[in-house]
Amino acid sequence: MSPAALSLPYRTDVLIAGAGPAGLALAASLCGLGVDHVLIDRNAGIQPGSKAAAVQPRTLEYLDRIGVGAALVGRGRKGRGFCLHDRERVLLRACYDRLDTPHPYMLLASQQTTERVLVRRLEELGGSIHREHRLLGFTSDFPGVSAMVAGPDGVLRAVSARYLVGCDGVHSTVRDAAGIAFPGEALEQLFALADVRLESDAPEAASRDATFYLSEAGLLLMSPLSEGLHRLVAPVPPGTAAPDASAVERLLATRGPAGAPAGVDVVAASTYRTQERVAEQFRAGPVFLAGDAAHTHSPAGAQGMNTGIQDAGNLAWKLHAVLTGNASDALLDTYHGERWPVATQLVAFTSQFSRIAALADPAAGRRRNALLAAAAVTEGITDWLAATLAQLDIAYTSEPALGAPRPGTRVSPLAVPPDGLHWTLALPGAPRRGITASRRGALAVRYVRDLPTTLLVRPDGYLAASGVPGDPAAVIERLGQYLPQ
Ligand SMILES: Cc1cc2nc3c(=O)[nH]c(=O)nc-3n(C[C@H](O)[C@H](O)[C@H](O)COP(=O)(O)OP(=O)(O)OC[C@H]3O[C@@H](n4cnc5c(N)ncnc54)[C@H](O)[C@@H]3O)c2cc1C
Repeated sequence: MSPAALSLPYRTDVLIAGAGPAGLALAASLCGLGVDHVLIDRNAGIQPGSKAAAVQPRTLEYLDRIGVGAALVGRGRKGRGFCLHDRERVLLRACYDRLDTPHPYMLLASQQTTERVLVRRLEELGGSIHREHRLLGFTSDFPGVSAMVAGPDGVLRAVSARYLVGCDGVHSTVRDAAGIAFPGEALEQLFALADVRLESDAPEAASRDATFYLSEAGLLLMSPLSEGLHRLVAPVPPGTAAPDASAVERLLATRGPAGAPAGVDVVAASTYRTQERVAEQFRAGPVFLAGDAAHTHSPAGAQGMNTGIQDAGNLAWKLHAVLTGNASDALLDTYHGERWPVATQLVAFTSQFSRIAALADPAAGRRRNALLAAAAVTEGITDWLAATLAQLDIAYTSEPALGAPRPGTRVSPLAVPPDGLHWTLALPGAPRRGITASRRGALAVRYVRDLPTTLLVRPDGYLAASGVPGDPAAVIERLGQYLPQ
């Protein structure tokens, strides 16, 4: 029996299956909150391959809360946003630099870098990953589950868990074992992907923005990556092989800007198809789904990993509140209530976006490009698009915006600086040095100049309530009243 297999606990409060970005973010959050958990992954380590390359501002805001943001920003490259071109002509540019966030940029970092930074943080906080442990299934063991886990020695062990979270990717064992449907479709369109080193300078736009070239010859996405690489993605006919250097040069010459660089060194290449699916339930009793296990869609728009990390952020504090007896189990239903609509809207948005971008008919493409150019000069459109892609406009409310702060909307960390995963009470005040802070147990207290009313901010950065008492003790006493329903 290997030591790794011996160390797998036989009981835990939260069993997390899958140590991809969603599982790692959840484990690091639970570790920071002091929640007993076990994180398993069937793989021996972080997997190579071309996956997520962009971290959105909203994700960085959450990663700041778990002490990861600065380390990741230090390892990535700051991109300005998204740009749509027809060859060299700019159609529309969605720049992040005017966004109301401490991270007004799209951080370009490989998924492996993001995972490595999360692993390091998890370990700093005293957590660990049980690698080469595969979840095979589970049975109900009221009020939780009894999970079957195969260790590296091939021996099957049972782990009794109050809650099980499936962060085990698109082919989720947890989702299947829970009998949760995953409706949607697998798309026919094949995409070619190449991570390349260019032998000459990249076109100006593609050196700083994720640039969609929408020409009559078809779509070509060109995006800077960290480490001096560029990623190219293009729809290709069925049966096309992973692109080599000459295929990449052909794509650049026919779909990219005039004078697109010739001479590329292909570092990694593949082809892929996408699926568009959202799990019917994100919660079934003691079982939850997060990340790609819960939703999958086209990578165009760089949203998938980001959404998974934010699923984790939504679930972590709720599990903590319930497990510490500070909230009833009903709070956990709000995980589905809040995150399912986000995933559904995201799949619809990325589906439309990628279908419009990949239009094959040249006449339809010309009409699309004319519409995009008109949209670019319409007041507010590019700012709206930037905020949407940056995931800053996600809100857990359908109340109309009438000026008053709405519970369920994001509170900018620039307005109310966070304090880790603590609840934050923001009080109007005129401290001598702008903003001052203190801590009352689980509640961080901030004095914010020119604040029209008190704000109570959840550990994941969304507004719980406004106009609450200014006395921290009273707020702590009544915290249950301010939980989402
Ligand atoms: C080409 C491409 C480009 C992309 N670009 C972006 C981008 O720029 N931005 C973005 O946000 N997203 C992007 N994505 C999407 C992103 O890669 C995924 O959304 C992300 O990996 C999902 O993370 P996850 O943690 O949910 O699942 P995964 O990353 O799939 O991790 C699941 C983990 O679960 C483990 N596992 C699976 N089954 C079991 C089991 N039975 N027992 C134990 N462990 C198990 C696996 O080993 C794995 O480690 C891109 C994807 C692709 C393919």
